[in-house]
Amino acid sequence: MDKILEVKDLNISFHTYAGEVKAVRGVSFDLNKGESLALVGESGCGKTVTAKSIVRLLKEPPAEIKEGSKIIFNGKEDVVKMSKKRLRSFRGEDVSMIFQDPMTSLNPTMTIGQQIMEALMIHKGMQKNEAKKETIKLLETVNIPNAEERINHYPHQLSGGMRQRVMIAMALSCNPKILIADEPTTALDVTIQAQIMDLLGELKNKFNTAIILITHDLGVVANFADKIQVMYAGEIVERGNREEIFYKSMHPYTWALLNSVPRLDTENKEQLYALRGTPPDLILPLKGCAFSSRCEYAMEICLERKPVETRLSNTHSLSCWLQHPDAPKVNRAEVLRG
Ligand code: SF4
Repeated sequence: MDKILEVKDLNISFHTYAGEVKAVRGVSFDLNKGESLALVGESGCGKTVTAKSIVRLLKEPPAEIKEGSKIIFNGKEDVVKMSKKRLRSFRGEDVSMIFQDPMTSLNPTMTIGQQIMEALMIHKGMQKNEAKKETIKLLETVNIPNAEERINHYPHQLSGGMRQRVMIAMALSCNPKILIADEPTTALDVTIQAQIMDLLGELKNKFNTAIILITHDLGVVANFADKIQVMYAGEIVERGNREEIFYKSMHPYTWALLNSVPRLDTENKEQLYALRGTPPDLILPLKGCAFSSRCEYAMEICLERKPVETRLSNTHSLSCWLQHPDAPKVNRAEVLRG
């Protein structure tokens, strides 16, 4: 498979009055053409910062992409070194991003038709009539009913789910090679969530667009992602394909995320699992495993030494001392409820 994106040793800091916050630390991953990748973790784990750095949407300063970080697009260009001029065409034409709340991205004073047409005229050089026809086609592609009428509607006249569909249509208007969706379904009810995820899956197959999905909810990616990367405190702690993460995960943090997904196929009527404690302060130097203060399997070595990455298969790896030959054996099935 052809690689469309290679992120290599990405380190991002934020310079604050309190000190340097090392928000992303040594993150590396590849994304192939037409592939879907989920970055999963709780708030503040660095997933959105990682995603925004791919489109260079971080405000620099206070953010700083550290020396040595590389974000290679299509095997040739390093996004970290892109000129401002190239970045303008890169965003939209090569990579698009959609956010949790479409109202923050849509202009409330313009109709949705005007907004999509504007993108088509600027990025694809279309004339007004051609852009209008294309806009209607795009709205139909994302399953907006009565598209010819809807183009005259303002964002506030649409439901939350429909606004997110409009954002997806706008993001796809220039046939980007990568679509980044940052918590696209968080503000929506469960039925609409499922419809939006199905729609993203259909569009990925139809246009061969690679998708990076950012979410705190492993449940959302269950039927969607080809590969999943679990992030904690600015690092990737486990990565694998869907089966490996859902059925063979070996990292205690991934277990905690899996245990916090509500399930219908169980008799268990206990309260939903909640992970105790808080993530570490990323201003302070970290010693040992960043998850150690919250991990019920933490051993002495976890407090002293950062875990090394262990490869379990070509696609599955994790950073945890439980993989060390001397570590006590933990039964995954017993840890996971249900
Ligand atoms: Fe827990 Fe230790 Fe593994 Fe960290 S390295 S997740 S503290 S067992």
